[in-house]
Amino acid sequence: MDTIATILNYVLAFLIAYILALWVALAIWAFYDIRTRTSDILVQLFSVLLVLAFNIFGLILYLFLRPKETLAEANVLALEEESYMVESEAWARCPNCEHRVEKDYVVCPMCQLDLKKRCTGCRNLADLRWNVCAYCGTPVQ
Ligand SMILES: [Zn+2]
Ligand SMILES: [Zn+2]
Repeated sequence: MDTIATILNYVLAFLIAYILALWVALAIWAFYDIRTRTSDILVQLFSVLLVLAFNIFGLILYLFLRPKETLAEANVLALEEESYMVESEAWARCPNCEHRVEKDYVVCPMCQLDLKKRCTGCRNLADLRWNVCAYCGTPVQ
């Protein structure tokens, strides 16, 4: 009987150690996970405490509550938005009819307003305000 009690004690001790290790591991995992999602210390602390207090249930709750996107993903989204902005700068509005025109349009396709001149020397596009072509120095009218 004595040996069985000893074995049971070992099994119990092992189980407790296992659960504690799992508990700590979950909290550490939550800590690293939340750090990739927010730089807010309070949110990080709350997330770790949630998992520490309720263990697996805290973790499930955390998975529901945590920010959907990581900071890295948020950065990618911001970059994409930025590149969209840059792209949209390739477009301009016709000052006369507000129609969307590309930067290298010479004339507005809607109202036929002159948007650019074409240099007679190098055939590059010249701004209407230019006196001489910026590319070759030829006077533009
Ligand atoms: Zn126009
Ligand atoms: Zn020119």
